[in-house]
Amino acid sequence: MNALLIYPEWPDTYWSFKHALPFEGKRSLYPPLGLMTIASLFPPHWKKRLVDTNIRPLTEDDLKWADVAMLSGMMIHKPELLQILERCRKRGLRTVIGGPVASSVAELPQHADHVVKGEAEELIADLCQGLENGTAKPMYEAAERPGLHLTPLPDISLINLKHYSAMAIQYSRGCPFNCEFCDIIEIYGRKPRTKSPDQVIAELEQLRQVKWRGSIFIVDDNFIGNKRMVKEMLPQLAAWNDRLTHPFTFYTEASMNLSDDLELLQMMKDARFTRVFLGIETPVEESLIQAQKQQNTRRGLLESVQRIQSYGMEVMAGFIVGFDNDPEEIFDKQVEFIKESAIPLAMVGMLIALPNTQLYRRLLKEGRIVEEGSGDNMDTRLNFIPKMNPEKLVEGYRSILRRIYNPEAYYDRARRFLAQAAPLHRTTPRMSDYVALLRSMVKQGVLSSSRRSYWKFFIEAATRYRHAFDRAITLAIMGHHFEVLTRIVCGPEPEPELER
Ligand code: SF4
Repeated sequence: MNALLIYPEWPDTYWSFKHALPFEGKRSLYPPLGLMTIASLFPPHWKKRLVDTNIRPLTEDDLKWADVAMLSGMMIHKPELLQILERCRKRGLRTVIGGPVASSVAELPQHADHVVKGEAEELIADLCQGLENGTAKPMYEAAERPGLHLTPLPDISLINLKHYSAMAIQYSRGCPFNCEFCDIIEIYGRKPRTKSPDQVIAELEQLRQVKWRGSIFIVDDNFIGNKRMVKEMLPQLAAWNDRLTHPFTFYTEASMNLSDDLELLQMMKDARFTRVFLGIETPVEESLIQAQKQQNTRRGLLESVQRIQSYGMEVMAGFIVGFDNDPEEIFDKQVEFIKESAIPLAMVGMLIALPNTQLYRRLLKEGRIVEEGSGDNMDTRLNFIPKMNPEKLVEGYRSILRRIYNPEAYYDRARRFLAQAAPLHRTTPRMSDYVALLRSMVKQGVLSSSRRSYWKFFIEAATRYRHAFDRAITLAIMGHHFEVLTRIVCGPEPEPELER
């Protein structure tokens, strides 16, 4: 059996980093870990080929070679996935779809021959057998969520590592919190399940053996969902990384309660975590309460961010506008908070009611859902009727982006982050880092209209923040991605009003 695994292309959003990756000469941020993991569960006599369409296009030769096409992706990939499914079906190729999108989109059985809903570890053997003898069912759904001890090492022979900016591993699934807009808890549950420290180290060792060095993205939606387990694992991770003279640094996503736990912060610092993504969402307490995000209300958000940054971890954060309780001045409040917090990479999005969420169900009951939603939180086509006037909401959203990603404001936050976040872990520079530096100097320092702000930042980074120069250049490059995206979402700056 020839199994063709296909991963769809990322649309142009914050997380694609499409405008930053070319600086490093990379084509995608990290590889499709889910497909690589299920590929390890295929019968040994199966042949497998993975096409990550972020790296290269899917060809007719791939389709001709395959007996079955297996796709995976998230809600945001839905349009691309439907196109690929259509292409496969036109050729009469059998299709299977899984991944988070399969839990959110009800109509998928109309587009694919087989749908795998939820986590696949305990379903793959049955599916493979069914595909071989022609008795595969239209729908596979696990009765229970599997323990992660069943998750095998991903098959890294399926990818070419050099095209990726970071490698990915997963430590846990699930999150104990209950945010109203979140689909993670619906898919993976509120009881976090973790891998053992030995499993984590085996995955890292596999990457080290194939000579990967540099960043590892721990893709968990909340890395600290089970603090007790994570505290058991981290010292072993740190000891392994120390013993091998630090082949890797790490970044991940976590909930705000990370800031209360100094022991955990120190452990993450020791293991060489350099960046953490936090869902801050909004500085408005009433909106947090309505979003059932109480874990962000019991603390000073600014102090929490500063405390985490003081452990050498750059905070990247998500912000949302469009909550029912948002006041008129929400846009100014968000800008003020982002400025004060010195968070360089602030990912501000519009609230989306994703299909498989408590928010969607509430708004449906209230008669306020207008469409399924794209999963892209920069999409200004709202999928529900907001309390605020929609035009005002969209224009306010755009005004936030314009204000936080104008070069002066962005470099100011980056500068203040570098000043307050010492000491940072340094990584051993790779050839791609030098290439990125050169490209950044040419593209941002010569060709860009914001070159004055760039050089001012560059000179300060090279003199006052020499200890973190590599991080400063990374921030400049990422800033470029956000600046370009802002122009795409907002269009040209509105003309200033003429004085009468
Ligand atoms: S903390 Fe994050 S992962 Fe957990 S429920 Fe809230 S949004 Fe979802």
